[in-house]
Amino acid sequence: MGLVIGRYAAVTDPGRRRRHNEDSYVCAPPLFAIADGMGGAQAGELASRLAKTAIEESAGGAVDEDGVAGAIQSANARVFERALQDPSAAGMGTTATVALVDEREAMVRLGHVGDSRAYRYRGGELEQLTVDHSLVGELIRSGRLTEDEAAVHPHRSVITRALGTEPDVDVDMTSTDLAPGDLLLLCSDGLSAMVRDADIARVVEAQGLDPQRAAEALVGAANAAGGIDNVTVVLVELVEGEPGERRVASPVSEGEIPDTSELERTEEDVARHGAGKGSRWPALLLVLGLIAATAFVLWWSFLA
Ligand code: MN
Repeated sequence: MGLVIGRYAAVTDPGRRRRHNEDSYVCAPPLFAIADGMGGAQAGELASRLAKTAIEESAGGAVDEDGVAGAIQSANARVFERALQDPSAAGMGTTATVALVDEREAMVRLGHVGDSRAYRYRGGELEQLTVDHSLVGELIRSGRLTEDEAAVHPHRSVITRALGTEPDVDVDMTSTDLAPGDLLLLCSDGLSAMVRDADIARVVEAQGLDPQRAAEALVGAANAAGGIDNVTVVLVELVEGEPGERRVASPVSEGEIPDTSELERTEEDVARHGAGKGSRWPALLLVLGLIAATAFVLWWSFLA
């Protein structure tokens, strides 16, 4: 037996201090991604949303490391060109962390720019797979700052590399092995800046490694710790199976859907969100109908 993607879930939340949610995510198995936008007014939302759309459009062709890098480059071009055309979006940018699960090779192919992280959870341990492109990340790596100092640093959210600010972007690529029982976790800094790695692992375990429950609990933990930034979590379970075999559909929670009504929400997005929610309706209606019919028959028989 090999490795296949099991259940997966994504939850996003504006947090407790911000009105807008500038985070976006992609769940297009075997491709998953997070983008955390930045920019004035609503440019941050626009940047992460443009990156999300570009990554989703590239998902079908992204079958290896080059595909992952290509998806990020096309997202970069999309954001950069829009920022050139639209003065209100000048200077906008976004992080992008893209994970392609290669079931046949039992590997994850990761590409990233910025400080949105990828982790592998394995047997109680959480291992960070990405290197933060952030000011505090660089200070930690050069030995000038400790993790604890970084956690409270006033400039901890400053990133040193972003998507959309230059015509080309330097993408960090890395690959790591995966095994059945592992979880792949992608998150924005709204989680990693609020909840320590060891606590993230504990929360995931407390939820029995259930991606949906764990993602909700992690967002809850970030909010309980202050929720100073938007929080987004994507969790993917890896299980034993025959690579390439049809997977059981996994419900994906939209969490709290960011209010992007002012932005260009495409018909396709609306259709997809609608389909996700709507697919559970027929069964629910059938059950409600049966209950109503039973109640009516009982009521009728009492009268008679
Ligand atoms: Mn953030």
